[in-house]
Amino acid sequence: MDIAFENRKLEKRLCRLVGQAIDDYRMIEDGDRVMVCLSGGKDSYGLLDILMRLQRRAPARFELIAVNLDQRQPGFPADVLPNYLRTLGVPFHIETQDTYSIVKKVIPEGKTMCSLCSRLRRGILYRVARELGATKIALGHHRDDILQTLLLNMFFGAKLKGMPPKLVSDNGEHVVIRPLAYVPEKDLIRWAEVRQFPIIPCNLCGSQQHLQRKQVGDLLREWDKRYPGRIDNMLRALQNVVPSHLMDRGLYDFAAVRATDRPEAEGDLAFDDEPLAMPDAHDATGEAPMAARRIVALTPQDA
Ligand code: SF4
Repeated sequence: MDIAFENRKLEKRLCRLVGQAIDDYRMIEDGDRVMVCLSGGKDSYGLLDILMRLQRRAPARFELIAVNLDQRQPGFPADVLPNYLRTLGVPFHIETQDTYSIVKKVIPEGKTMCSLCSRLRRGILYRVARELGATKIALGHHRDDILQTLLLNMFFGAKLKGMPPKLVSDNGEHVVIRPLAYVPEKDLIRWAEVRQFPIIPCNLCGSQQHLQRKQVGDLLREWDKRYPGRIDNMLRALQNVVPSHLMDRGLYDFAAVRATDRPEAEGDLAFDDEPLAMPDAHDATGEAPMAARRIVALTPQDA
């Protein structure tokens, strides 16, 4: 196997998927100043790296500014990110706020600290975005994060709800984007190895990974291995919602359903099993499906 060739293919795939998500959801537009939140983990390093590549090639002109919040966790290597960012030549800002001590003081020993910690972090990052004049805040959540959240919300929250690719912040002030929404985590793991990102461990706070999220993550990884394509189809399902075939009365007016006395393309085959569309990576003509054929304004084409 030619490693350099495989790496180039991976780079092109990452750029294509990120460019496609940006294009599909109009995440970045001409003149945007995008604040990229960097934690020191593989996902946010990958996000910044791919956005910088797209910035060089994209017709849209946008600025990037990398931001890290140093939460004063014990053992946090404060010089790693600034050193790395200086070598990239990207504008950056390190915000230092000791949220670790606050969380430790407020949350009793043994209880999970994540919800207060994230709330504090969010508030600080929104303030920093305002001070920096950022028009968008980019986060490093990827395809697998979105699907994990979907399943967790179904299993434990009784809601059909994932993680949006683009949303308004809870204080209404900012637009938050997730340009890695189409990217599989395994590609980011591989890219972090290729690029040798100086990864900062994510367990410095001493908090354990959420057990249920880990279990759902393991489940998705297992499916991906045993049934290639299933995870991608799950993501595509989030883009192909049929409200009349779900049960949310707020989304579809079931009370108004009447016979129309004419054939209905979307009518239910009430007495038959629903035929399963089995989209393949390629259709009968040998071409990629329509969605994959879209011309992506921001994206270089694969070789
Ligand atoms: S894992 Fe640690 S740093 Fe991350 S949200 Fe939880 S408490 Fe905060």
